[in-house]
Amino acid sequence: MSEEKNIHCSFCGRSKDEAEMMIAGVDAHICDRCVGQAGGILHAELGEKPQSNPLDVAAKPEFDFTPKQIKEHLDEYIIGQEPAKRTLAVAVYNHYKRIGLVPLKDAPDVDKSNIVLVGNTGTGKTLMARTIAKMLNVPFTIVDATVLTEAGYVGEDVESILTRLLQAADYDLNRAQVGIVFIDEIDKIARKGDNPSITRDVSGEGVQQGLLKLLEGSKVNVPPKGGRKHPDQKYIEVDTTNILFIAGGAFVGIEKKIGSRLNSATLGYSKESRNHVEDDEVLSYITPSDLKSFGLIPELIGRMPIVTFMSPLDKDALRAILTLPKNALIKQYQHLFHMDDIALSFDDEVYDYIVEVALDYSLGARGLRSVCEAILTDHMFDAPGMEEKSIHITKEYAKAQIERSSLRKIPA
Ligand code: ADP
Repeated sequence: MSEEKNIHCSFCGRSKDEAEMMIAGVDAHICDRCVGQAGGILHAELGEKPQSNPLDVAAKPEFDFTPKQIKEHLDEYIIGQEPAKRTLAVAVYNHYKRIGLVPLKDAPDVDKSNIVLVGNTGTGKTLMARTIAKMLNVPFTIVDATVLTEAGYVGEDVESILTRLLQAADYDLNRAQVGIVFIDEIDKIARKGDNPSITRDVSGEGVQQGLLKLLEGSKVNVPPKGGRKHPDQKYIEVDTTNILFIAGGAFVGIEKKIGSRLNSATLGYSKESRNHVEDDEVLSYITPSDLKSFGLIPELIGRMPIVTFMSPLDKDALRAILTLPKNALIKQYQHLFHMDDIALSFDDEVYDYIVEVALDYSLGARGLRSVCEAILTDHMFDAPGMEEKSIHITKEYAKAQIERSSLRKIPA
């Protein structure tokens, strides 16, 4: 008995009497308090949060939006792209409705509908996916398909996508399992040629096969810290059934393929039925089968049944993007200057000039930021502590700044 009393926690020295509970090891003891503290340290060090109970329905994100509301929200941030907004709003609505389905006995299994967004760089594909994820308050991650490689090659395994989603969800498995993944540059992992024995197809079909596994909904062992899988590692099992995948790609030249399909489809009909389809209208006829000629395997295309498109941004759209959205570029710069107590204003014609220069660089809306940076860098450098509390940008000033910058036109 006296021996029992002499037991002390090997960590804090508390006696058995002072502790609620004492756990014995080989040559040591630990009290309940120290166990608790050690647990806290572990979570903090490993960055892992306690998992919410998988059966806890409350862990699911609240979903209380109609497609119309989703579209209206997108309208606040994204200019134009009406068809894509509508398609995405419906797809996302159905996806989350499907997750919320009560597992009634007779309820049909509603298939998941991953989405492909086809459109040039800088037309707002990523912005669209990001805006939706933010609105729904679900974890969101962007991956570049070109860094993915088949296991055994330099690059990242497809599982790394889920590692990132877990990180975005602060390692809360339940939240990660209803997150959204945006896979950029999906058109760049095309199958290269038909004979895999000549050159090993490192970044093509093998990656597509790997993605297929994620897209179709399966349980995948994911290394929580990323990196290559190896046998001694601890894995987290992630069920991808309810993860929404949105893939984006430029699919350069796809208009031609759609165009020739449309032409051959109208062959044999009377001349009157052969409508002339305008070039920028061609994209609106896109179907999943048009993606096949880009070397995406049919199984993968089958797992992304919703295909929609983002139109190239014309002058008016770029002008609107500059000033209208909730977080429009000009508003962002004005805010930055405002933080230094400086009111930033522009002559109207400066906006047109910015658009003109951005169009020259064919970078879509992305060019706008580079142009604005070139015009405003000097002022941003001088702004903190400036006496004058307002800055007005004229076209002459903007032009002079561009001429001095790396964006100036290369002399012919
Ligand atoms: P993508 O993914 O198609 O290459 P992004 O979504 O990354 O293009 O767009 C780059 C930036 O351009 C966005 O952060 C946003 O500021 C702006 N942008 C692009 N398209 C639009 C649009 N339709 N409406 C508003 N802003 C846009």
